[in-house]
Amino acid sequence: MSSPSGKPLPAGAGRLLRHRSGTYWLLTLVVAMVLATSMALWWTLRQVRSLAQPFQQSELWHVSSVHSELARVALLARKLRAQEAPDADLQERLEVLLSTLDMSGANPRAGVRLRQALPQTALDLEDLARHVERWASRFASAPAERTQVANDILLHSDELLQRIRKAVVAVHLFSTQEADGVRQELHNQFMLLSAVLGGLLLGTALLIHRLLHEARAAQALSLQLAQANRQLEMRVASRTREIEESRALLGFILDSSPSDVVLVDVESGFVHFINNQMVERLGLQWPPIKLFLPELLHDPGASRQLMEALDTYGQVDGMEALIGAKNNPRWSSLSARLIEVDGKLAHLLWGFDISTHKQLETQLRELATRDSLTGMLNRRAFLERGTALIDHCRRHAKPCTVLMIDIDHFKRINDRHGHQAGDDSLRACATAIAGALREADILGRLGGEEFAALLPHSSAESAWSVAERIREAISRLEIVSLASDPLKITVSIGMAEMAHRDAGIETLLAWADQALYRAKATGRNKVLAYDGATPTP
Ligand code: GH3
Ligand code: MG
Ligand code: MG
Repeated sequence: MSSPSGKPLPAGAGRLLRHRSGTYWLLTLVVAMVLATSMALWWTLRQVRSLAQPFQQSELWHVSSVHSELARVALLARKLRAQEAPDADLQERLEVLLSTLDMSGANPRAGVRLRQALPQTALDLEDLARHVERWASRFASAPAERTQVANDILLHSDELLQRIRKAVVAVHLFSTQEADGVRQELHNQFMLLSAVLGGLLLGTALLIHRLLHEARAAQALSLQLAQANRQLEMRVASRTREIEESRALLGFILDSSPSDVVLVDVESGFVHFINNQMVERLGLQWPPIKLFLPELLHDPGASRQLMEALDTYGQVDGMEALIGAKNNPRWSSLSARLIEVDGKLAHLLWGFDISTHKQLETQLRELATRDSLTGMLNRRAFLERGTALIDHCRRHAKPCTVLMIDIDHFKRINDRHGHQAGDDSLRACATAIAGALREADILGRLGGEEFAALLPHSSAESAWSVAERIREAISRLEIVSLASDPLKITVSIGMAEMAHRDAGIETLLAWADQALYRAKATGRNKVLAYDGATPTP
């Protein structure tokens, strides 16, 4: 059994609901019985009232009155004939008898009932009435015949009295039978009423029993519900406590974690949680103000890249990015996973500080690209950067010139002044060359005592003066030597311009080398440009 909302009802609730529907039926039955009882009571009262009417026994009274009045008339007729009573008495009794016989005025219903139930009695009474009318009219109209009237009365009175006596008996019998019928009917109705009242009593008793039962069930159910509620509340409280404890523990773990940890709402990018490590890393105030994921990353490009990766894959692994304050960003290796927190999607983002690693990496990369003696780019790095620079110049249709610089008779320097002096000379030359170049130019040591410089946006003409400056600067150098007086060095320089030709760094170096070869061959300590006369090797 379940509630309309789909939640299971407590045990007993279903039974209570079934009881309720039974109770409604019982209530309907009781109402119907109350109505039936009311109807039966109304009907019985109606019968009782009709029996209590004064005219109920009026037929018997009427016929009895007629009989006694007729007997009096007969007695007075006998007295009148014996001259023991005055005429007026008989006349008066005749009128009384006549009025007694007349049922139309005082009790018309009795006359109708008599005619319907006892037609013979009605005929006898009508016959008597005719006789009495006749006697009365003769008595009133012919005083001389009054004795004859009295004789006539006496002649018929016995027979008439006999018939009226029979009528009295018949009416009495009829009234008794009728009263018996009514009594029987009343008895039946009372029985019916008693049965209905008994049913009503039974129904009411059942209803009360059921209502009591329901009340008890409802009380038990409410107790059960209260108990279930208490248990539920206890479970919720305990679960909440567990969750709070595990949250506190998680918060403690995350706060004490050496990693940077943040929890970010997927939809809004709002940072729900940020651990102490990350707060310190970002140089934020505690508690942190409203913070969004993109604000954590130093570089907007990296921020965009991180958001795209999260949107596309839902996770990130070991993405290296600068995080933290703008004035002091730190390198971090960021990872993220999509998780559900409180029914909402969130990104758990954690990172490890790799600034030291990055620094070492940069140093290593620098070392890999630099010549250890002079600090200049080594051959491979010079070729890489040179290629990029030439491409840039070509894209922007700008000139570009390469210088090849070689120390003259360096072998002799080594031989005469020692290898240390040779190294010092190399360093001094490097410094002198770098001092003559611009920021945008690149300089490398291609090997031994050979340097190369690439001058972007410089034509052969402008590069010529740079090369001359270099040559002169080096020729003015005085390298301190333990073995002898300060030694002097010169360089020969070959140069080649890319101009708009489709030449790479290697080709330009080869061309410049050819020019250098010519400078060496034609006396050294000079600058010569590649003129295209010598074929490319
Ligand atoms: P040229 O005028 O024709 O260039 O003659 P050069 O003697 O300068 O040329 P060569 O190629 O014959 O000699 C180069 C010398 O440079 C040989 C080598 O011993 C020396 N050298 C190469 N690398 C170093 C270095 O790192 N330190 C020192 N001290 N000498 C080096
Ligand atoms: Mg040399
Ligand atoms: Mg050389």
